[in-house]
This record gives sequence, structure tokens and C-alpha cells, in this order.
Amino acid sequence: MSVAAQIIDNAIKEGRKYLMEHEAKSICSQYGINVTKFRVAKDLDQALEFSREIGYPVVFKIVSPDIIHKSDVGGVIINIKNEEEAKNAYKKIMDNVKKHNPNAKIVGILVQEMAPAGLEVIIGGIKDPQFGHAIMFGLGGIFVEILKDVTFRIVPITREDAEEMIREIRGYPLLKGYRGQPPVDENAIIEALMKTSKLLMDFPKIEQLDLNPIFAYEKGIKVIDARIILE
Ligand code: ADP
Ligand code: MG
Repeated sequence: MSVAAQIIDNAIKEGRKYLMEHEAKSICSQYGINVTKFRVAKDLDQALEFSREIGYPVVFKIVSPDIIHKSDVGGVIINIKNEEEAKNAYKKIMDNVKKHNPNAKIVGILVQEMAPAGLEVIIGGIKDPQFGHAIMFGLGGIFVEILKDVTFRIVPITREDAEEMIREIRGYPLLKGYRGQPPVDENAIIEALMKTSKLLMDFPKIEQLDLNPIFAYEKGIKVIDARIILE
């Protein structure tokens, strides 16, 4: 069985509908979608060990099957620059989570590389009872939240579909480089859309998928946060 199938099977066995970020990112990796480096630490010592291994600056996030929106409970601390900050961040996250969600089961702390800023884009997947999966593309932040500047296709999509999706959003000029900003790697986004389409086709049990945000760079992209919800 593939890694992705195992992760999904395991969640179903545990009666979980929500895949944690590290699970969703492992699935993305299997499909060749580039994600941040990450490791799940069981305790503070491991968190420090993995931070050294990944290299500062790092990001810590709470890992819990009961917490879907990690920053809402103070479960995300970015730009941790050294061991002292790491110790404080670990404690702070655990305190925050205890305060906001005392009953949440804690698996550990997700240690990841602090990704350099990029243009925020999102790829989504949603299951329609009639048409199967639709794949969504848009720019992140206010573009999706306020302007609803997103586009959809039914999967599977072709390369031409992916190209069209990217070019038809109103925010497309931002991808091409705006006011002296360098253009972002359109081809890497096209590839990620096609790989996500394949992933959705392979797993009819996925009800919702959110790669949000993805940072797009001059060269390549990186998935910063990933969420998958099963039927
Ligand atoms: P939430 O579960 O609240 O959506 P996220 O994982 O999306 O938590 O983290 C919140 C925000 O922190 C992200 O939208 C992003 O701006 C920033 N962030 C998270 N992880 C990283 C990272 N590895 N590198 C840089 N910024 C990050
Ligand atoms: Mg997020």
C-alpha cells in the first residue's frame, strides 16, 4: 500500500476525518508536490534536535487530531531563531493549547523550516456529490477571502486546463511580476495543479483538500500548510 493510502486508512481506522498537517504533507510529498521540510517531535528534546537538524530559523506548530485551525489556539510560532527561543516557543504553544483547548489530544510539535516569503497562492479540492472532485486555484490572503478571486475545474485536468486556470484569475498580473517584483514560477504551479488533480482522482474519500498557503517563488513553490478532510 502507498504511504498516502496507509495514512488515509489509518485515520479511518482511528475514526478520524481530519488529517493532521504532517499527514497531509506526507501525502503531497508522495505526489511530488513540494512541501516545507518537517518532522514531528514527541517532546522538547526532540524538538530541539529536529530544529538543529533542519536548521534555524524554524517554525513550531501544535500536532493534534482535535485542532484544525492551529493559530486560532496559539499553536503556531514562526521564525524561531535559536535554541533559547525554541525552548520558550515550545512552552508557549503547550500553555496556549492547554488554555484554549484543554481536552485536545496532543501528538507533539511539528518542527519545520521557516520558508522565505513568497507570493501566496492556494490550491483546493472539494467533492461535489454529482460531479466528483473539483480543483480550485487562487491567490491567497485578501484575494480569496474578500475578492473570491478563484477558479474551479472538475478533475482530472490537463496541462492546458491548469494553464487556463492560472491565467483566468483577475490577480494573474501579480504572478507575472508586478511593479518590479520578479514573476513567479508558473510552470511549478501548473505541475502542482496536475499532481493535486491526480491525488484527488486516486482518493474519492477526500471530501476537502486545502493547500493554503503555498508560497510561490521565482523558482519553485512550497506548501506551507496542508489540510485534508475525509468523508
Ligand atoms: P493554521 O492551522 O492556523 O492555518 P498555518 O500552518 O497555516 O496554521 O500557519 C499560520 C501561518 O503562519 C501561515 O499562514 C503562514 O503565514 C505562517 N507559516 C506557517 N508555517 C510557516 C513556515 N514553515 N514558514 C513560513 N511561514 C509559515
Ligand atoms: Mg493555514
